[in-house]
Amino acid sequence: MRTGVLGGTFNPIHFGHLRPAEEVRQALGLGQVRFVPLALPAHKDNGDVAPAEDRLEMVRLALEGYPEFICDAIEIERGGVSYTVDTLAALAEGECRGQEIFFIIGADAFSLLNTWREPLKLLKMVNFAVTLRGEQRAEGVREAVEGGLKEIGLTAAFTEIRDNSFQLIESDKVIEFVSVNTLDISATRIREIVRSGGGLHNLLPPSVEAFIIRRDLYGGAV
Ligand code: ATP
Repeated sequence: MRTGVLGGTFNPIHFGHLRPAEEVRQALGLGQVRFVPLALPAHKDNGDVAPAEDRLEMVRLALEGYPEFICDAIEIERGGVSYTVDTLAALAEGECRGQEIFFIIGADAFSLLNTWREPLKLLKMVNFAVTLRGEQRAEGVREAVEGGLKEIGLTAAFTEIRDNSFQLIESDKVIEFVSVNTLDISATRIREIVRSGGGLHNLLPPSVEAFIIRRDLYGGAV
């Protein structure tokens, strides 16, 4: 079975996460997609981040009724900062043993692979499903990744095996680029709307909206 893994702060989860995940699932024939909320976002201001248990609960609520979408608490249960390379190794040896893992990531984040911990190990360990939005093109992203890695003295060479599909040379792992529909939704905007007392209809599932109100998240009640 092919399994997708989508990490994120999910602060909160919204349709901009759910819809592209479904499009990637269909495009690559993934049997399941595991949503993995991060315990602590490495590159973000932690001030506005809801408690891990709340973000986890919102992911659980959002995924109800989608049998192929699984809420995975692996990073939150471990606590502290988790490196993607460690999380994926744990999944590959544990829950996802014997499955073909596709790590789902936006092209912007993938272009910065050189800033990640052990990027080459990561590339050799799992497949990547890189989402392209708007004008983004696979070739440009691939060049950015190769260039970024070169800057830190690492070499990764890819060969094109199909349109939008690359293989890392000397490995059996692939990078599949998938064009997804862009939904103009971000968690940042959702938090702003809550702060200003606006409504969240059609930005995220109603169960998540109700949870945000019930738990008074993101300063909505102030
Ligand atoms: P914030 O606004 O707080 O940065 P976010 O929703 O952009 O939050 P995450 O929750 O960390 O960020 O996102 C997890 C993954 O979902 C990332 O790979 C991100 O690129 C992707 N993502 C987020 N919003 C969208 C969207 N509207 N369309 C497609 N992908 C998205």
